[in-house]
Amino acid sequence: MSKDHSPTANLPRKLSDPSLLQSQSHIGGEWTGASGGETLAVTNPADGSHLGDVSALSAEDSTLAVDAAHKAFPNWAGLLPQERAAFLRKWFEEISKNREDLALIMTLEQGKPLSEARGEIDYGASFVEFYAEEAKRPNIEGVTSHLPDAEVEVWREPVGVAALITPWNFPLAMLTRKAAAALAAGCTVVAHPSGETPYSALALAELAKRAGFPAGIFNVVTGSAPVVVEPWMSDKRVKAVSFTGSTEIGKLLYRQGAETVKRLVMELGGHAPFIMFGDTDIESAVDEAIKAKFATSGQDCLGANRFFIEKPVYDEFCKQFAERTAALTVGPGLDDCDIGPLMHEKAVAKQEEHVADALAKGARLLVGGKRHDAGSLFFEPTVLADVPADALIMQEETFGPVAAIASFDDEAEVLQRANDTEYGLVAYLHTQDPRRIYRASRALQFGMVAVNRTKVTGAPVPFGGMKQSGLGREGSRLGMEAFTEIKYVCRDWA
Ligand code: NAP
Repeated sequence: MSKDHSPTANLPRKLSDPSLLQSQSHIGGEWTGASGGETLAVTNPADGSHLGDVSALSAEDSTLAVDAAHKAFPNWAGLLPQERAAFLRKWFEEISKNREDLALIMTLEQGKPLSEARGEIDYGASFVEFYAEEAKRPNIEGVTSHLPDAEVEVWREPVGVAALITPWNFPLAMLTRKAAAALAAGCTVVAHPSGETPYSALALAELAKRAGFPAGIFNVVTGSAPVVVEPWMSDKRVKAVSFTGSTEIGKLLYRQGAETVKRLVMELGGHAPFIMFGDTDIESAVDEAIKAKFATSGQDCLGANRFFIEKPVYDEFCKQFAERTAALTVGPGLDDCDIGPLMHEKAVAKQEEHVADALAKGARLLVGGKRHDAGSLFFEPTVLADVPADALIMQEETFGPVAAIASFDDEAEVLQRANDTEYGLVAYLHTQDPRRIYRASRALQFGMVAVNRTKVTGAPVPFGGMKQSGLGREGSRLGMEAFTEIKYVCRDWA
């Protein structure tokens, strides 16, 4: 019998629509391989199996995507707003129609539990739906003239080609959040998904084709990131760059973009504090703490990294949180366990390092603490108590299923400790006192403050961080800002 070489041959579970699994880059409306035939292997983190190979484009190949986006720009920008909106609406419908297959692709390449993958498809689709509406009203500000006999107007115009660079932890939603806003604004797009999770982005390109997108407005380029992204950073035709990923790579792109003065949106690392005062219902706070720590197996920029619990309720919180953590199931995303694999060995090694360092500095291990026997990339959900401020885990993102808890005595002290970081993405606050909620929400130096709950994000609200957690905002009307220029026109009546 001949061997099956189709892109879906290695999938452990079949897609109902195999043509969603594309392995070439998408440029100018065509599937395009590397000119030299190079490819990049993609593996399933749950078991290390080989899922397939995607094209690894060269710098020259990658520039073809900018050529295509630049060529497509005038026509796309020149469409009526409602025409752009209609394309986005169709894309939203295609994504929603293919939810199950997209979730399966995501679980296979990223590892997250299937139910979380479905949640990400819905979340990702919601940005496309939202910006399909916002596309219709890009120019809503009016200005009253301050000059006699003159009429003034302020217009928003699309900047041109936008480069979008997205990470592996949310392979679909990070791309739709950027691309829908850019396309709604009238920009065209070149996108680089993480080499670890390219299939979700390529499936989005296939669905964009089905939605009838004009050629060249949505290009997806796979390959080694430094090779394919660097030419975009130095290309004058690329006017805006929206990046989600680590603070380290964000700074690199910031420097690279300086030469051509690109508009930048940066969604970078987080190091979220979870603050609980003694007046909180412990059980419901523990429910929220489990979500805040263990969603996406802890590989979430919004993941709570530092738990600060007020002294009178500290022991009880630690007890309940450790019990709930010990009950979490660990296994492949296809089995829909609570905790899936981490993305790569580096991530697992980081969990080990953070645990060992905290224990050496006097922390107590309440549960977990080591690799899990489900496979080489699995780590036990772990709780550390009495973690000192100088432990690594209190200072940097862990990006995995390890929680660090410390106690505090009073409000001023805990707010100072929560703010004592270069990160400022999200903070979680649990208290019933309305005046304290107001004071603390004002004092916390974070772009998002979640009070007595965990889930706060969504298409209509601004997402983003302060300090070195980022620049600009995504979602909401603000998400279109970096993709537009302001033009002021002043006309004399005479
Ligand atoms: P990363 O290493 O910074 O990678 C992010 C993206 O940048 C990927 O597409 C990556 O491609 C690409 N990249 C890597 N090196 C590059 C280079 N030299 N030039 C251009 N592009 C390059 O981050 P990650 O490990 O994938 O993601 C985890 C980080 O993202 C965490 O810090 C997390 O907090 C942050 N994050 C932030 C948000 C937010 O909204 N604030 C959301 C999710 C994640 P390859 O993967 O192919 O190398």
